[in-house]
Amino acid sequence: MKINAHTGLLEPVHYLASSHCDVRPEHTVIDMIVVHNISLPPGEFGTGAVEKFFCGTLDFSLHEYYASIAHLRVSSHLFISREGKITQFVPFHKRAWHAGESAFAGRTNCNDFSIGIELEGTDHLPYEKKQYTILTEVIQLLTKQYPAITRDRIVGHSDIAPQRKTDPGPAFDWPHLDCLLER
Ligand SMILES: [Zn+2]
Repeated sequence: MKINAHTGLLEPVHYLASSHCDVRPEHTVIDMIVVHNISLPPGEFGTGAVEKFFCGTLDFSLHEYYASIAHLRVSSHLFISREGKITQFVPFHKRAWHAGESAFAGRTNCNDFSIGIELEGTDHLPYEKKQYTILTEVIQLLTKQYPAITRDRIVGHSDIAPQRKTDPGPAFDWPHLDCLLER
């Protein structure tokens, strides 16, 4: 796997282009990774709904939960399924809409300067070994491509929007990720 610096895409990875993105502010240095979780409906995996949600094609009448998210236009750069399969929605040089109202180290609007990675999951169910393996590989590629992403700038959504967000949740094993990154 590698990052194509020209297209901003991981290769070879399934690319589903989302219109839920725009350009980053001029001269932005990409210097942060935000780890999230999502599953649609919550706690159900492999439904294909997340991919549709991020692309704006989810039929919100299919599940009662969807009414609560029908107004949202969001995306992430990457989604890692329970099986460790990656889908990319937004090229890295573009701004994906994953963080919402957020702040880190005194800077607001973290979408401007971050890369969003969604893990298929919930706050309380342990993530799959495969997901950690793939996430580690992706982080290693991204930190090589964007060296301003130092370890202290790889954070959870709950770290940058603590009033609103809890993901990736207590189930996410940060020490384990550190261990894999240091190998
Ligand atoms: Zn999140």
